[in-house]
Amino acid sequence: MQRIAVLTSGGDSSGMNPAIRAVTRKAIYHGIEVIGIKRGYTGFIEGEMSLLNLGSVADIIQRGGTMLFSARSEEFRTPEGRKKAFENVERFGIQGLIVIGGDGSFRGARQFHKEFGLPIIGVPGTIDNDIVGTDYSIGFDTAINTVVDAINKIRDTATSHERTFIVEVMGRDTGFIALTAGLAAGAESILIPEKPFSINDICHKLMQGHKRGKLHSIILVAEGASDSFDVASQIKEKTGFDTKVIILGHLQRGGAPTAYERVIGSCMGAKAVELLRNGEVLKMVGMQAGKIVALDIEDSALKKKPIDMDMYDLANILSI
Ligand code: ATP
Repeated sequence: MQRIAVLTSGGDSSGMNPAIRAVTRKAIYHGIEVIGIKRGYTGFIEGEMSLLNLGSVADIIQRGGTMLFSARSEEFRTPEGRKKAFENVERFGIQGLIVIGGDGSFRGARQFHKEFGLPIIGVPGTIDNDIVGTDYSIGFDTAINTVVDAINKIRDTATSHERTFIVEVMGRDTGFIALTAGLAAGAESILIPEKPFSINDICHKLMQGHKRGKLHSIILVAEGASDSFDVASQIKEKTGFDTKVIILGHLQRGGAPTAYERVIGSCMGAKAVELLRNGEVLKMVGMQAGKIVALDIEDSALKKKPIDMDMYDLANILSI
């Protein structure tokens, strides 16, 4: 294998840069040229790509976002769009592709491989950590640290004004960010799509806390669990507590990757190159039981990743 390409696709996540750096340097170490494709599948179709060298990926390990930019491409969903992308594969002499992105990006990768046979390795990159098969996706650790940091700040003002804060976090239809950050931040209640909740139970808990002298309460709501403003107004109505809503939004996607993120991003990027070198044609890099492993990319599209209900129960116990 003499020349491979790398792209980032879907929602960006902190840690993509360390992965791009690892792909590039590991490949060059083995004498393989690396082409960086800009703007995900959009740049793949439009031929927006150029050779990366050791210096191209210097000074990015500490930066959030992705130096290759990311995008969502409607055109890549069409056979005509993918055909255009394949013309660039031939034009640039690309013999293997590494796609850093979420399950949608992997679906696109699978389709492309099926049609044109190009070897493709996926690297899981999404703050939601919702990709089936892998315990970890690049971006998650930085995102939960950002959420915890925000909650620490919200606590200060919540205490000063003796308020209840509803903090809404990302995660689409999953509660991985809410649950993990909620446990780490000591939230009073955590609302996730995977578990039905009762406003009456939440209010009861808030009142109990108030009785024993709690000065503030934090309720973490995953965006897919409920409308945060609706939750706030119901709590206000039932308890009379001053209740505010804060939606953390896109700030959860940014920021310098944590040390853990950089290590895992580096290991996953390097593993992807290793898999191409070993002749794998369609795999996903993943983490299982703390080890970086090669997984069947088909699995990422199969079912919904189950959330850890033991962790959910523990968060409830610890927040009494
Ligand atoms: P995130 O989890 O951050 O949303 P993602 O990779 O799941 O990331 P998507 O928008 O679902 O993000 O997918 C990224 C891109 O992958 C799409 O814009 C599209 O170009 C391509 N893609 C997704 N599904 C398919 C498919 N079935 N066939 C071809 N291409 C697809």
